[in-house]
Amino acid sequence: MAQTAESIGANVFQFFTRNPRGGAAKPIDKADVERFLEYASEHDIGPILAHAPYTLNAAGAEARVRDFAEVVMADDLKRLEFTPGAMYNFHPGSHVNQGAKAGIELIAAMLNRILKPEYSTLVLLETMAGKGSEVGRSFEEIRAIMDRTEAPLGVCLDTCHIWDGGYDIVNDLDGVVKRFDDIIGLKHLKAIHINDSMNNLGAHKDRHEKIGKGKIGLEAFSRIVNHPSLKELPFYLETPCDLQGYKEEIALLKGLAK
Ligand code: FE
Ligand code: FE
Ligand code: ZN
Repeated sequence: MAQTAESIGANVFQFFTRNPRGGAAKPIDKADVERFLEYASEHDIGPILAHAPYTLNAAGAEARVRDFAEVVMADDLKRLEFTPGAMYNFHPGSHVNQGAKAGIELIAAMLNRILKPEYSTLVLLETMAGKGSEVGRSFEEIRAIMDRTEAPLGVCLDTCHIWDGGYDIVNDLDGVVKRFDDIIGLKHLKAIHINDSMNNLGAHKDRHEKIGKGKIGLEAFSRIVNHPSLKELPFYLETPCDLQGYKEEIALLKGLAK
C-alpha cells in the first residue's frame, strides 16, 4: 500500500482494516509489517489512517449489533499496535430510533470499555452527513461523545459530509472553521477526508463526488487546502476514482496549494 501511495504522488493513505462490510481480518504478517515500517520511514509516508468497516454500529438498537462493533474495533486497535502511531477513524454510528442522546451514550460507553491508555493509536470520530439516524451530524454531537469518553479522541473532518450536514464551506469556510474551533477545538482536528459532494448544502445524503466535479467545487477546495488552520493536516481522498484518477486529483490539489 505504501508503494502504491508513493507511485501516485501521495505521502499519506487510508485503508480499511478489513472488508469494509465487516468480516474477518487477515492474520498479521510480521515480516510484511517490518517491510512496511521501513519503507514508510524511508519514504516519509504517514500518518496512515485506518478506517473501521462501515457496518460497525456502536449505537445500534440491538445488543448483537453493538457487540459486533465492540469486538471488531477492539481487535482492530490491538492489531494497529503493530504500526505504532497510526490513527483509526470510525463512523460513530446510527441510533436507529433511540435518539441521538442515547446513541451518544452508547458510543462513549463502548469507547470507555475498549480504549486502553497504553495504545499508541489515536481514535478519530468522523463528522457525518446526518443520513438517516447517523450520530455525529453536528459538531455538537461529536463534542458530546468526546465529553463522555475518558481517553482523548481526535476528529476526522469529511468535507462532503459536513457540506451535506449543512456547514457552508463554500461561502463561509472561515465561519465553519471557527465553529469547529469553538465547539470541538481545532487541536483535536487530526485528518481531513477531502471529497466533493453530489448533493446540495444540507442535503444529508452522503454521496461523494470527484474533486471539482460536485457542488463544493474547485474554488472552495483551493481555499480549503490553503486555509491556515487546515493546510498542515493530512488529507485523504475518498472520491469515486481509480488509481489513475487519484493520481490526477493529487496533482490537481497540489497545484492548488500555494
Ligand atoms: Fe468514513
Ligand atoms: Fe469520509
Ligand atoms: Zn461518506
